[in-house]
Amino acid sequence: MPNRRLTPEEIVKARVLLDSIRAQLEELSAGDPDLLFAYRRKVYKELTYDERDKPMVRRQLKALKRGEQKGICPCCQNPLTEKYCVLDRFEAAKGYTPENTRLICQACDVASQVSKGYA
Ligand SMILES: [Zn+2]
Repeated sequence: MPNRRLTPEEIVKARVLLDSIRAQLEELSAGDPDLLFAYRRKVYKELTYDERDKPMVRRQLKALKRGEQKGICPCCQNPLTEKYCVLDRFEAAKGYTPENTRLICQACDVASQVSKGYA
């Protein structure tokens, strides 16, 4: 299923929200560029975790999927390498759950991103 897209009206609302967040970050940092950087990075990181879960949760899920798949990439049937494997969601909005993910190799991830038009 393709990811939900924002309508033009919703994009305008998102831009208003983003402008508001940027203004609040400027106000919080009171002209201190290092503080602005730190606040912006913190907000960015936390929003990323909302979308992708925290690194520890993802590591645990990867280990679970690796075990379930007996160390094999379900796309190409090659053994998964220890590093650079990717949790692939069947439906992005459903998040990183055992039911909604599979662990795939980097080459298959790139091919999947290209076929979905993301790369
Ligand atoms: Zn593969």
